[in-house]
Amino acid sequence: MNDTITLTRAPALDVSAIRAEFPILAQTVRGKKLVFLDSAASAQKPRAVIDAMKSAMETQYANVHRGLHWMSERTTDAYEAARAKVANLLNAPSPEQIVFTKNTTEAINLVAHAFSALLKPGQAVLISEMEHHANLIPWQMLRDRAGVPLRIAKITDAGELDMNSLESHLQSGDIGLVAITHMSNVLGTYTPAERIARLAHEHGARVLFDGSQAAVHRAVDVQAIGADFYVFTGHKLYGPTGIGVLYAKRDLLEAMPPFLGGGEMIGTVTYERATWAEIPHKFEAGTPPILEAIGLGAAIDFVQSIGFDAIAAHEAALTDHAIATLSTIPGLTIIGRAQDRGGVISFTMQNAHPHDIATLLDRAGIAVRAGHHCAEPLMRRLNLSGTARASFAIYSTHEEIDALATTLERIRSLFG
Ligand SMILES: *Cc1c(COP(=O)(O)O)cnc(C)c1O
Repeated sequence: MNDTITLTRAPALDVSAIRAEFPILAQTVRGKKLVFLDSAASAQKPRAVIDAMKSAMETQYANVHRGLHWMSERTTDAYEAARAKVANLLNAPSPEQIVFTKNTTEAINLVAHAFSALLKPGQAVLISEMEHHANLIPWQMLRDRAGVPLRIAKITDAGELDMNSLESHLQSGDIGLVAITHMSNVLGTYTPAERIARLAHEHGARVLFDGSQAAVHRAVDVQAIGADFYVFTGHKLYGPTGIGVLYAKRDLLEAMPPFLGGGEMIGTVTYERATWAEIPHKFEAGTPPILEAIGLGAAIDFVQSIGFDAIAAHEAALTDHAIATLSTIPGLTIIGRAQDRGGVISFTMQNAHPHDIATLLDRAGIAVRAGHHCAEPLMRRLNLSGTARASFAIYSTHEEIDALATTLERIRSLFG
């Protein structure tokens, strides 16, 4: 019976135990305790990921799918097990709907090439004003290569997706694909993915979500969302670099032509023609990122062992604390005031260039990002040349946010 389960809140997360799993966090930089507030650019790696990759290299390594020998079979099993873990993470109906890529950027480029073959003449792609360049440039290139129009839905001044703008674009009737971020890497804004997918489908469009940020902080259910495509990148989810994920509905994967050609993705080959392998292999040309997939699988086990309820609660508390603390600093402006937001906080300070802020914070051992955050058109929309950005992860603490705030106070006194 469930009568022993009385918790109404997520169990508190044991941050010091989690921090102990990340060897790099024990380091000092410039003689100071490292305060790493740049996890939205890339997250640090837990021992479980480091060990899984090391152990694979030491004990179970060969190329996948090709060898008829013991090592190749073991490695193939580990690689395919990682695919199943990703399918489980996203609640995908089947591991066959998970394609491994190099990163989010490659996953979106794959869709821009392969899905364009399914667009009807005149159909357009709709993105938003708060996209990362990874979800802009591939569509610009598609426009220039194949004449597929690119439309831009607006955001509000609070930094939320303007649903009226999205809907009026959809009502024009010629949108074939909506490609939108699930969480902004600049504003921290979550977009209402289910609503966007429903609207897109009502108007006959397919929908892609860029989950590079969202998939790190919340449980994602691609079936509940109704996503046609969902992409994320391994290195932000505590996994290694060099691996990304494309989830897609089966009918799309079956119907789309391959993106890259070569080994692994073929059925039979003559000089005249070739046939394609079954999905997902059709989209995985060449030797895949085997060790990186194993590392990503370990990262998924790691976050799932903590649980997204606890992760989301911890990060929401950090975000509330950061907004409350930073808001009291005179001359500091937090950029983006979305209702539904995560632990990515962009800010500017009067009279101080974001790069100077980041450099001065670095002297105190505090790592933040400064610049346009791969979203130049968004900066222009906000009338900014750049921002400084602090971002949080499962290992971030309230003390680190206090250290950030104290140092920013000192920086403010320098700039007056
Ligand atoms: C980081 C990021 C990307 C790009 O990820 P890569 O690993 O560089 O391909 C795309 N979109 C968003 C929202 C991101 O935060």
